[in-house]
Amino acid sequence: MNAEAHAREVYLDHNATTPIDPRVKAAIDACLDGGVGNPHSSSHKAGSRARQLVDRARRQVAALIGAKAEQIIFTSGATEANNLAIWGAAAACERDQGGPGHILHSAIEHPSVREPCIGLAGRGWEVEEVPVRPDGILEPAELERRMTSRTRIVAVMAANHEIGTRQPIEAVASLCRSRNVVLHCDATQAVAKVPLHAEVVGQGLISLSAHKLYGPMGIGALYIAPGVRLVPMLQGGAQERGLRPGTVPVGLAAGCGRAAEIAATDLASEAERLASWRDRLLSGLRAVRPDLVVNGALSPRLPGNLNCRFPDMDAERLLLALPELQISTGAACASGRQEPSPVLRALGLTPAEIAASVRICLGRFTTEADLEFALERLSAALES
Ligand code: PMP
Repeated sequence: MNAEAHAREVYLDHNATTPIDPRVKAAIDACLDGGVGNPHSSSHKAGSRARQLVDRARRQVAALIGAKAEQIIFTSGATEANNLAIWGAAAACERDQGGPGHILHSAIEHPSVREPCIGLAGRGWEVEEVPVRPDGILEPAELERRMTSRTRIVAVMAANHEIGTRQPIEAVASLCRSRNVVLHCDATQAVAKVPLHAEVVGQGLISLSAHKLYGPMGIGALYIAPGVRLVPMLQGGAQERGLRPGTVPVGLAAGCGRAAEIAATDLASEAERLASWRDRLLSGLRAVRPDLVVNGALSPRLPGNLNCRFPDMDAERLLLALPELQISTGAACASGRQEPSPVLRALGLTPAEIAASVRICLGRFTTEADLEFALERLSAALES
């Protein structure tokens, strides 16, 4: 290998976060340089300029999922949006229905959904996990079997953060609709990568995060369908309809909005390219290691995601041998925890199979040359 190849680094961890799109950075810079005021100060021009920027961002985010601007509230990210959805909807149910109920969540939810659900048990809620099939997809009949007259909330993500499998949200939503149950859909990984229309969730909530769609870290949003009631988690302000008090960060909101606008126009072509490159990567790796196993169904799956295992291989060692490739063995939010991935465990993988798994995720700025480089380096490491 030549010196240039040594110096090269290829980022293939787009499920963890995405680099800022230069067009998004330009929108943020324009805000930061523009002397905008507090968007909640209505008595002067600086305030109303800021307000206009936030309003535009809200419209852009809403447009990406076919919602109305007033149905979107900004949060600090998807973790907060998920917490607000679960705690807020549960508290509203307790208030409106005189006490706790039954909540169901899929076995592969992100910790920012799973842990608030588990936390509700401490408030008297009956909390139940719905298993997924070994291919990482929830079976709607499994959900239906667990729904009772006490079920108030169901949480099923649109696409998984580790294995990229997409969930049957339409079928889940129709079960929820017929029983008047609130559906929370964590769409953090799906939004901007695959089409998602707010109408699909019906009486529901959708969370998203800007840094997964080539926008800035520190901002996300929650879509709240008409008729869904939430109790705010924070107090001390009337911003965001009182549901999320605190000054909206104008620059971050503008970046989130611009990122959503770009995603809306680039989604289809980007998805097609990333899916075909992901498949090329898979067949290239299979040529070297025919025993490769894809974790979860290959379809329906997010276009750029490949999560696979190489039997008897130590994935951590493989990655250490490949510092030029930025790939991971699992979710960033779980790193630092010693336990094996709960997502892969939910698929029924053994600890040894989990230890042999890697997640590779292509993104908007991945080039064909990056792909070839990654394939060449991975192949060499796998053969050695
Ligand atoms: N949900 C999913 C599915 C995610 O992948 C993530 C980020 N890893 C989150 C929620 C949390 O997002 P944020 O970083 O914006 O808090």
